[in-house]
Amino acid sequence: METCNRVECYFHGLRSAMEFKDQLKCFGGQGHFDKVLSTSNLYLPDFDRVSMLLSENRPSSDNEYPLSTILESRLCEYHNAEHCVLYSSGFWALVAAIKLKAIAGKSNVIIPSMTYRRLADLVHWAGKIPVFVDVYEDGLAVSVEAVREAIDNDTALILAVHPIVNCCHVDSFIELSARENVPVIFDAVESVHETYKGKRIGSFGVGEVFSFHASKLINGCEGGYICTNEADFATDLRSFRDFCVVDSAAGKVFGLDARPIDGHAAFALAGLMEIDKNVAHNREIYSAYKKYLPDVHGLRLLEFDENEQTSYKNIVIEVMDDYPVSRDILVRFLNDEGLLARSHYDPPLHAKEYSYGVSVKGMANTNKVRTKFINMPCGSVVSVGDVEIIIQILKYIEDDTSLNTLLENTYISPA
Ligand SMILES: *Cc1c(COP(=O)(O)O)cnc(C)c1O
Repeated sequence: METCNRVECYFHGLRSAMEFKDQLKCFGGQGHFDKVLSTSNLYLPDFDRVSMLLSENRPSSDNEYPLSTILESRLCEYHNAEHCVLYSSGFWALVAAIKLKAIAGKSNVIIPSMTYRRLADLVHWAGKIPVFVDVYEDGLAVSVEAVREAIDNDTALILAVHPIVNCCHVDSFIELSARENVPVIFDAVESVHETYKGKRIGSFGVGEVFSFHASKLINGCEGGYICTNEADFATDLRSFRDFCVVDSAAGKVFGLDARPIDGHAAFALAGLMEIDKNVAHNREIYSAYKKYLPDVHGLRLLEFDENEQTSYKNIVIEVMDDYPVSRDILVRFLNDEGLLARSHYDPPLHAKEYSYGVSVKGMANTNKVRTKFINMPCGSVVSVGDVEIIIQILKYIEDDTSLNTLLENTYISPA
């Protein structure tokens, strides 16, 4: 394997480049994959483990949530957090955290523009105005300087979001928050299992929000949670979630029913127990992309910082100017071949239309990088063999100028 010509290796028994080409759907072939490959993690925990957890922890009355209680304490241990409060989803956990932490009487919540597509909506749900700020060109994390410049008299909260690869500058945001007297919370959905300067995400105390959606690292079917070391905040989060009126530091806040489903906790618990297996698989997928992608000219892998603990969950690549087709054309082509690659957080939030008020700060970096990055297929249903074929397809596009012309003509960008 080591010594053979790499391009030959990719062919995996296919006899010729011609055969490889004919199998592509765009040339009328049946495609190279017998299933659709997405960018979601879709980890399925061991079925017997889940059913055992369910049968051993049946509630004996309506108001008992035995699995949720166990899960909360396991999450405290896992994240090294003093409190952990489960929610029905990451979305509602974020809404609650914003409402309970925002400075009373102030209107604005600072968030990155290049992020999760519903982040502005949930700020609006929390009754606040999203203020979009820029990211770093390198690594795509929310910029500390951009947040600092955006802080003014109306700022109620900073919502710092961890990017898909690696983490944002946690300590700088915590320092900034203390210096400016503006609370910060973290959307840490994309940084489960990661460390920042050697310290586990979830252990920073101020309020870090996670999700158990099936697409995330730990699949709890659906659900979310918040880690914090602030006892009052944790109590308020519970009251809010349980439909109470909360007398919080942020004033009187009306809660809603955002309780988790106890049965989902069995999934999440099993997933948590099996996290090493989950991450080991993701690491294999990442290593395969890292090994083969340098052979494709014009594509670059966004690398995980392996000096930290990381989950290897997502594969983000940059389509550079010397790749023969644009990012948008590549995504459409891959989708038609059964590869559900996705444009990386595109459109960025500042480029969308809103039925509510928003504010947009400088977007030089976001506008520069927004057309460049792709999230590639990864997660538990993708195999190393799949990655090798994916790379072969990317390489094929690079090599075959007639295919390039075809793609340009078939998938002309609307822009
Ligand atoms: C998925 C996601 C959320 C929302 O989590 P849900 O549990 O799906 O509501 C929030 N932030 C980020 C960055 C996400 O990726």
